[in-house]
Amino acid sequence: MKSVFLNALQILHKLTKEGYQAYFVGGSVRDSLLEREIGDVDIATSAAPDEVQRIFPKTVDVGAAHGTVIVIHNGTPYEVTTFRTEEGYKDARRPDKVSFVQDITEDLKRRDFTVNAMAMDVDGKLIDFYGGREDLKKGIIRTVGDPAERFSEDGLRMMRAVRFVSQLGFRLSNETKNAITEKNALLQKISIERKLAEFDKLLLGENRGEAILLLLETGIEEHLPFLSGQKEALLRFARHEKGALSSLNEMWMLLLYELHFSDPAGFLKSWKMPMKRIKHLQHGVSILEKRRQEGWTSWLLYQAGSEAAIEAEACCLALEGETSRNRALKVEEAFRSLPIKNRSELAVTGEDLLNWTGKKPGPWISEMLEDAEQAVLSHKIGNSKTEIKEWVFRCSSQK
Ligand code: ATP
Ligand code: MG
Repeated sequence: MKSVFLNALQILHKLTKEGYQAYFVGGSVRDSLLEREIGDVDIATSAAPDEVQRIFPKTVDVGAAHGTVIVIHNGTPYEVTTFRTEEGYKDARRPDKVSFVQDITEDLKRRDFTVNAMAMDVDGKLIDFYGGREDLKKGIIRTVGDPAERFSEDGLRMMRAVRFVSQLGFRLSNETKNAITEKNALLQKISIERKLAEFDKLLLGENRGEAILLLLETGIEEHLPFLSGQKEALLRFARHEKGALSSLNEMWMLLLYELHFSDPAGFLKSWKMPMKRIKHLQHGVSILEKRRQEGWTSWLLYQAGSEAAIEAEACCLALEGETSRNRALKVEEAFRSLPIKNRSELAVTGEDLLNWTGKKPGPWISEMLEDAEQAVLSHKIGNSKTEIKEWVFRCSSQK
């Protein structure tokens, strides 16, 4: 058994000693069988939430009514969820009713895909009623039960299917793919926040190109903010080399670059991203556009800042079909060797300019500071008070 399971194993032991059933479930079982890095280890148990809270000294109630309690064990949080079935789904998003049950097979049945519907007990024995192991071997994403029905219960599962294709490099079973094509409009009912979480994971997956093609093939993209009618841009994005790209920001920057929207911030707002993230991406894509048009200058590097410069260069590499990231590291070095990295490093301030010139404050201050920054960055003058002062008077006398 994998070491990440060992700490969590004590939780399973404790629950079984108290007379309950307890299993590892979901993504951690799937990823351990695939020998992939394991994210969160989730636990399912026959114990009711209040019993879980009684048995463990440190717990957090994150949805006990729906069966989930977080148990903190040796400093690590684990989601412990009571076996449950779900019913209703009148709104195609969430169940109207959940009921706690005593049988793990009932719990596994409500899970989305066969590869996510396996459980592992304390001895590492696999519980696999829906053919998950077989589908893992074949590399197939298939719903547990009738796909059209499962997608009608919760439309987000259609996006989840495609993001697992991206993460695992699997393909969709024919029935699953056909059902998505038929039911994609159900995604209209799903909140943007849930869609964004899946889309982010899709973008980070190894197989993102395939996944984007699949979004187009099944029509999911028609129900994602402002991606409807963007087939050409999405195809270009899907074809780019991904080797040079390493972060989610870079993926979004490249996507924005290909989409070529006049108002990238508006587009990102419609995805309900936090403002800080929107600002970061908006800045990044504007630097990327300038970099593509004119190449790096000291001034552009300085305006970009180290992070956006590296991200923009990585996007350029992807656009050029390069797989190595080396050039992005060179850009970082170039940034580090700039004489100043931001305005606060300039040896003079607006205050100095006012004192030296005796002029009234106005927009000229900011303009002159920018001229001084450019002069320092292009090594026309050194970054010292004396040199900048001389340069200010030289410029004024020329006007
Ligand atoms: P990741 O590695 O991204 O965490 P995961 O498979 O663990 O992947 P989660 O979103 O953490 O995915 O969900 C944990 C488990 O809960 C899934 O493996 C699946 O069994 C079940 N699950 C999650 N979301 C749904 C859903 N919308 N419908 C049905 N089952 C779901
Ligand atoms: Mg998970």
